[in-house]
Amino acid sequence: MARATHDLRDDEWIALVDAWGACAYCASATTALQRDCVLPISRGGRYTLTNVVPACRSCNASKCNTEVTVWLRRKRLDEAAFLGRWNAVLAALDRPVAGVSDGSDLGVEGIGISAPKSASPTL
Ligand SMILES: [Zn+2]
Repeated sequence: MARATHDLRDDEWIALVDAWGACAYCASATTALQRDCVLPISRGGRYTLTNVVPACRSCNASKCNTEVTVWLRRKRLDEAAFLGRWNAVLAALDRPVAGVSDGSDLGVEGIGISAPKSASPTL
């Protein structure tokens, strides 16, 4: 369990920002996008390509350690749209999220982001 928590490479982050083009949650086109872990670090998430999305400062601060689907509902954001877009972005980056289909009927535990199918090439 001593692995580095910052696995996201700079080029991966740039690709993510480019793919989303704005805050992943509220679509705010701010230039100050921050790295937000969809699954919070405190809940076992890591800074990896399949767990980081660009978020504006407001969303990042608001979401904090909250479970993403719980937070999206609280903010009255479209969680199905977010999950669908997220999956599409990762698919475009050739790193689809395991277990996320169209976001419908998706429980909090349904986000299979902890175990990508393919072995990590980042060694
Ligand atoms: Zn935002």
